[in-house]
Amino acid sequence: MHWFDPLEKMELRGWYGNGLTWAPERSPFLPYTIYRTKKKHQGLDLYAPVGTNTYACIEGEVYLKRSTDIYGNQIGIKGKYKEKTYYFFYAHLKDSALFNLGDFVKMGEKIGYTGKTGYENDPDRHAHLHFEVRNTSSFTGGRLNPVQTIPEIGKNLNINPEESDQP
Ligand SMILES: [Zn+2]
Repeated sequence: MHWFDPLEKMELRGWYGNGLTWAPERSPFLPYTIYRTKKKHQGLDLYAPVGTNTYACIEGEVYLKRSTDIYGNQIGIKGKYKEKTYYFFYAHLKDSALFNLGDFVKMGEKIGYTGKTGYENDPDRHAHLHFEVRNTSSFTGGRLNPVQTIPEIGKNLNINPEESDQP
């Protein structure tokens, strides 16, 4: 095995906006600005109620652990997928990461819980895991399309979730 999904259930986040519009088409990696007003969307938004387990997708080292206004609590894991080094980035986590900077994590190990940190004014139904695949540890740049880079994600991800599955 060379990959473990960051969440048990991999499906695109559906709800957006204060009026709660169902729009899962906004959740993939979008290299150009289509739906988002200010910028492109450089990761995947995965549906996850607050407190959902999140797992190390790869064996590696915690290269990033921090908190910012936009991404909230974040964890980054540096590791190899099919001989190539990548940086996997998890955002909006609960404030209870189970690992620290420099720690070694095993693939499939629980690293923490999803939260709603960062965009704190968003409604509860916006809770999700923002997940990125990068080719650099730099905080900006190097974002890759997760679905194209890691075929397992493309295979396991439900891109047409049902509204009733995301209460
Ligand atoms: Zn996102």
